[in-house]
Amino acid sequence: MDDSRRSLPAVHELLSDEFCERHGHDRVAMWARRLLERARKSSKPPSKPELLKELERCLAGGLRPAINASGVVLHTNLGRAPWSDAAVQAALAATSYCTVELDAAGGRGHRGSAVEERLVALTGAEAAVVVNNCAAAVMLCLRALAKDREVIVSRGELVEIGGGFRVPDVLEESGCRLVEVGTTNRTHLTDFRDAVGEATGAILRVHHSNFRQTGFVAEAGLDKLCALGPPVVVDAGSGALIAMAGEIRIQELLGSGAQLVCFSGDKLLGGPQAGIIVGQHRWVDLLRRHPLMRALRPDKVTLAALQSTLDDWLTGRAVPCQKMIQTSQEELRQVVQGWLNALPTGVRASIEEVEGAIGGGTVPGRSWPSIALAIESPSPVCLREHLLAGEPAVVARISHDRLLLDARTVAPVGQAGALLERLLEAISAVGDTGS
Ligand SMILES: *Cc1c(COP(=O)(O)O)cnc(C)c1O
Repeated sequence: MDDSRRSLPAVHELLSDEFCERHGHDRVAMWARRLLERARKSSKPPSKPELLKELERCLAGGLRPAINASGVVLHTNLGRAPWSDAAVQAALAATSYCTVELDAAGGRGHRGSAVEERLVALTGAEAAVVVNNCAAAVMLCLRALAKDREVIVSRGELVEIGGGFRVPDVLEESGCRLVEVGTTNRTHLTDFRDAVGEATGAILRVHHSNFRQTGFVAEAGLDKLCALGPPVVVDAGSGALIAMAGEIRIQELLGSGAQLVCFSGDKLLGGPQAGIIVGQHRWVDLLRRHPLMRALRPDKVTLAALQSTLDDWLTGRAVPCQKMIQTSQEELRQVVQGWLNALPTGVRASIEEVEGAIGGGTVPGRSWPSIALAIESPSPVCLREHLLAGEPAVVARISHDRLLLDARTVAPVGQAGALLERLLEAISAVGDTGS
């Protein structure tokens, strides 16, 4: 055994009181043992400070609750839409036994029938079906309608949405042949009409979720496209149900005659991760009977949260992400004034008008004005990292060497108290901000 290996610390030497208090003795000991085991096998064993650093990384890693002070409402890295209290309660209740596939008479019920009924009521669609997420929804539609057949897509919509979701790849994985029509900036109805033939399985329209085209651009009207014959599948992504800057509502897409419309459950709808498909009976039935449906179906907890979220919409109760989007600048200014008043003297901070965003592929290219608390610090990067490392993690951003805490994504979920607590702790850990 060489010296560095012999000098490895014992497990108890890594169990600092601070770690144990924060993460629990058993968890710290488990990770300490694992790291020491790995160190013993290593040709270049780490020093004690290196081990402690690695231990901290392991303990802090994984899924932690977070406070979103980034100003991006539907932040994909933070799990997108926060659920309403009612949705949380409904999901919690469903973690035990629940009537997920039992009808009122005690017979075998159809999973998802309650959410489908609500989706029909909300959107005016003939029928609805729910899968795991919007990407799964699009794949299911394409496979069920156009496997081994052609799918026509405008060249302006062969986009990458993020996280590796590229329209041409999705088509290929769905077993369809891509037929590109038009050009990047302009695609006309005649381009589609010329491409429709015996082998056409579907026409796909994709929402421009993360970029915006301006200038010399044109696209075929959806109503005309839907009248061409083949079924039109719309990947609407963010899924607006009420009017908002530049977004076409799901109801309008259906009104134009779209045979199937897919959107996410955790974007503008403000519910759990889910892929929602609404449309015409004939096509929705095809999806329901497809063998992939069994592999893509959502779990009971998701269905419970979704049912509750849809009840919020049907009864006119704003879900948290809608409250965030709709909070006025004046209200936000008052919230931030409250934060400012709660700071001890010596902390240099001010109220700032900033640019936030809705995120989740909503209103691309447009920012959403917001109000933030701007904190001056000699080391804003350290402050941001310290806030991120704790629990709950606080996600903030830096602009012009100041730390910005955006109020839009904090206040409506009642996290202001926890935010201030973490902020004061971080400021004292990182050092005086006044000097
Ligand atoms: C977000 C988005 C998707 C993916 O949705 P998930 O629910 O994350 O699978 C697909 N298409 C568009 C246009 C989107 O904006």
